[in-house]
Amino acid sequence: MSTDVIARLKQMAADPGRVWLVGGPTYGDLLAQTGRLANALLALGLGKGDRLLLQVEKCEAVLSLYLACLRTGVIFLPVNPGYTVAETAHFLTDAEPALSVTDPDRVAGLRALGARVVDLPALLEQADGQGNAYGDPAHGPDDLAAILYTSGTTGRSKGVMLTRENLASNAEALVSLWRFTSADVLLHALPVFHTHGLFVATNCVLYSGASMIFQRSFQPAAVLEALAQATVMMGVPTFYTRLLADARLTRDATAHVRLFISGSAPLSPATHAEWQARTGHAILERYGMTETNMITSNPYDGARRAGTVGMPLPGVDVRITGPDGQVLPQGEAGSIEVRGPNVFKGYWRLPEKTAEEFRDGWFVTGDMGAIDAQGYLSILGRAKDLVISGGLNVYPAEVEAALDDLPGVAASAVIGVPHPDFGEAVVACLVSAKGALLSEDAIRAALRDRLAAFKLPKRVLILDDLPRNAMGKVQKADLRRIYRTLFASA
Ligand code: AMP
Repeated sequence: MSTDVIARLKQMAADPGRVWLVGGPTYGDLLAQTGRLANALLALGLGKGDRLLLQVEKCEAVLSLYLACLRTGVIFLPVNPGYTVAETAHFLTDAEPALSVTDPDRVAGLRALGARVVDLPALLEQADGQGNAYGDPAHGPDDLAAILYTSGTTGRSKGVMLTRENLASNAEALVSLWRFTSADVLLHALPVFHTHGLFVATNCVLYSGASMIFQRSFQPAAVLEALAQATVMMGVPTFYTRLLADARLTRDATAHVRLFISGSAPLSPATHAEWQARTGHAILERYGMTETNMITSNPYDGARRAGTVGMPLPGVDVRITGPDGQVLPQGEAGSIEVRGPNVFKGYWRLPEKTAEEFRDGWFVTGDMGAIDAQGYLSILGRAKDLVISGGLNVYPAEVEAALDDLPGVAASAVIGVPHPDFGEAVVACLVSAKGALLSEDAIRAALRDRLAAFKLPKRVLILDDLPRNAMGKVQKADLRRIYRTLFASA
């Protein structure tokens, strides 16, 4: 069994000078603040198993509230502040939070939906009037720590129930794999309502007693300046492409950093190579999802192979299965399934949906992939994004890799669009690099000697931008919706 998050926090707080946030609170201050917040939650009538919905712009207090919830047993439910009041209504009816905490300008909107709401400054003020001491009740490893809603690009967003052991086991695995120590300073510029910024980043710091430079949002100039003090940066691929677009990104600017990590969306091999050429660092790519925490990682010491997400974390098992659920031989492409202490307990109030997504104790991730002879996993895209053209499977990731390799292509997304002859046709959506002039015919011609004919895009669309969510993930469902009638009269 792993050490619980709160037990770890207390161990770290025993060292009075240990810094939690650079230029801000120590671990001792953090523990004291979580005690005051825990007392405030109790005073508001919240207890074990109640849900606390938090929808605020990124700030330090999100982390304190997360930890205060863990101390009390209140289930932490962070929500993207980008959601409108109407979108947030689903979380209120589905999770029935005992309390919603928001920024002051959102209070009226949520109250109109019938929620019990307090604004964050008021809650923090109430906590300031409380004592630091808090008698922590006993918690079990299987108790719920948090519910995170999936981004829900298709259908209703589902509440992912994560236990204390899910978080603790993953934190311990990552700290040892990525060699975190108390000497580390993590540059944190990710959102904190998502598993990446909330759990991966925060818990790696907390479990190793490291410090964090906590930035409210990703701004290349501020990030580049802070890299002079940081030893680790975690980012989504768009962080890396945006930093590469800045001339101030140099070998010198990154000399203090020991590790750059990327995840949450595919990092293109071209970005990986460009980053290495400019800075001398090989970005370490890892793979995970809200339901499973982190699943695989490229090695710290061995080769960090671009276009792959590495091997399963210690204690985590991965297998690749075929359409009938049979385990496929090494090298074959199929459905990625995962098992281990990292895998969630189920979808909130959706036992049937949960049962559908598990096969003999293995969670069916919905991603397609293949494992090579050295054990490296490659992601071939979401199963629902697989294109079946003329009866043949086309893995979007393979076509995207070929496109990204072409000069002048900055980003690509490959989708399937209904086609009268082929069932579905492969369509490529491209964004050109600054100053490049791409043409549909030239792209198709360049792909001809790289890809089999059935994988060639029937159309290449050159767009100003690709639709992305807050984590930089391309929203393929949006693209499919926009171009669904592209071949209607073909
Ligand atoms: P989320 O639950 O929002 O974190 O989304 C999880 C999904 O993001 C996974 O199921 C993958 O489809 C995708 N994903 C995460 N990390 C990677 C990665 N390194 N490469 C490709 N896709 C990734």
